Amino acid sequence: MTLRLRLLLAQAPLALALVLVGVVAVITLARLGRSGQRILQDNYRSVLAAQRMTEQLERMDSAALFIVAGELERGQAQQAAQRQGLESELRLQESNVTEPGEAESTHRLRVGWERYQTAYDGFLTQSSEVERKAVYFRSIEPAFREVKDAASAVLALNQDAMVHKSEELRRQSDRVNTLMVLAVLAAFGVGLFASTTLTHRALRPVSVLSQAVRRLGRGDYAVRAVVEGRDEIAQLGQDFNSMAEALQQYRQSSLGELLQAQAASQATIDSLPDPVVVFGADGVLLNVNRSAEDVLKLSLEGGGDVLGRVVPEAREVVERVRGHVLGGKGAYQPRGYEEAVRVELAEGDRWLLPRGSPVYGETGEVVGATVILQDVTRLRRFDELKNDLVATVAHEFRTPLTSLRMAVHLVAEGMVGAVTEKQADLLFAAREDCERLQGIVDDLLDLSRIQAGQLRLEVRRVSPAELVDAALDSQRAAAGERGVRLAKQVGMDVESVDVDPDRLGLVLGNLVGNGVKHTPAGGEVEVRVAREGTRVRFEVRDTGEGIAPEQQGRIFEKFYRAPGAPVGGAGLGLSIAKEVVQAHGGELGVVSAPGRGSTFWFTLPQPTVVESA
Ligand code: ADP
Repeated sequence: MTLRLRLLLAQAPLALALVLVGVVAVITLARLGRSGQRILQDNYRSVLAAQRMTEQLERMDSAALFIVAGELERGQAQQAAQRQGLESELRLQESNVTEPGEAESTHRLRVGWERYQTAYDGFLTQSSEVERKAVYFRSIEPAFREVKDAASAVLALNQDAMVHKSEELRRQSDRVNTLMVLAVLAAFGVGLFASTTLTHRALRPVSVLSQAVRRLGRGDYAVRAVVEGRDEIAQLGQDFNSMAEALQQYRQSSLGELLQAQAASQATIDSLPDPVVVFGADGVLLNVNRSAEDVLKLSLEGGGDVLGRVVPEAREVVERVRGHVLGGKGAYQPRGYEEAVRVELAEGDRWLLPRGSPVYGETGEVVGATVILQDVTRLRRFDELKNDLVATVAHEFRTPLTSLRMAVHLVAEGMVGAVTEKQADLLFAAREDCERLQGIVDDLLDLSRIQAGQLRLEVRRVSPAELVDAALDSQRAAAGERGVRLAKQVGMDVESVDVDPDRLGLVLGNLVGNGVKHTPAGGEVEVRVAREGTRVRFEVRDTGEGIAPEQQGRIFEKFYRAPGAPVGGAGLGLSIAKEVVQAHGGELGVVSAPGRGSTFWFTLPQPTVVESA
């Protein structure tokens, strides 16, 4: 059944009720009308006939009185006219007997009328006036009264019937009125109830459908509209269900793929042993791997300031690397193991070395940063072990080495007996090696002291020119041997620096010595000192072989010696220099290119000048 038909049918009960009330009204009104007509037909005609008959009877009586009074002709004519009229009225009444008792009264009227006519005929045949008078009073007058009474009775009977019937009609019309009101109310009630019920039933599928649409809108893709039948709404319901089905399938498939991809990428970073932290372009934490959760206690769950719950040292490092990468400075590489941060865990301390890489978007812009904290605990332990070992060995070597050097010296100088020239040569070489060994052992002890934080600087205010001179002097002999020129250039604006002159003198001497070592004959090593903002910058330039870029980062590591470096060094000089400069609050670095010489530089804080009053 179509929706249109249903809605039309829903209107049917009201229409039916209307038709029913109309039919009842027409029937009752027709019946009321017929009752009125009956009163007219049945009784009004009889009343008229009775009145006319009484009138005609009276005229006949007055005609008889004319005749008694001698007006014979006039009386004759008048009675003949009335007699005919009365007869026809009486016939009419006889054919219109409707009320109970009316037949008897009419019959009485007929009998009286017949008798009256007979008496009247007898009266007319009288020839003398006296006799006519006598007959009138003897037979006409009593018959007249009898007929008149009978006519009055018919009249009264019909009048009574009329009153009674009109009363009955009024009552009937009252009843019809009440009935009509009741019928209208009942029809309206039933019709309205039936119409609303049917309309509601016809429209119920629409509300089912609208509920389903609302739930789908809220993301419930499993919802289906249960609409039975074969009308337009059922068709709409089926179309809706197919649409929801397609949406659900699409969502399941795309969601599944998405979840799979996400699970795969999460599993990938979870499989990395080192903590990995991923940030968005705005610096918001996007993802962490399992190791980050375990080691850094970094969990995305719980919300709020996630980084705030991490140990402060690790947090500072992660934020610094994030700032570096998101600031557009490219990937972040640590300078060395000293950048590793310590994180205390129940199973022991861990050392984490930070690295950072940018995450690039489709158009090459930085859309995030990945920070990896490489676990270097084992390497650190090896380093510590190596330092301890080196410190112990150096310490244990020192005393025997001193006595060995002393012994060799005494023997070489012939203090304990004569030595041949050949023996003396060997002994001098042995003493030189002993001194070199002593230098290395001293360096190692220095380094281990520095690293143990035991380096105590004896800072004094000195002139940089003096420092430079001392350093150049210490290398003058070696430079002369190699044919390398030494030069200096100290800015007039640099009057003094606050340093430990012994330690910094060694640093400067070491740098100059390296320069001399790595510069071929005819070259030059120059020391420059100049102001640079609030700092003093020392530079040691040489015109030597230069250093390959890949080695520039490593030459400051302990024991690192570039391949092919001249024998003699232990690879400690630069690392000690760096530690000493840093202990002074400065920085040390190198600018170099193969074949174009090297410039080692370091900066120191400019001393604050105290003006004397
Ligand atoms: P070493 O005592 O062995 O020279 P350093 O720590 O002083 O150790 O130097 C480390 C390495 O750096 C050296 O092996 C050398 O290869 C390189 N190097 C240092 N100074 C220079 C320089 N002026 N020119 C070229 N290479 C240098």
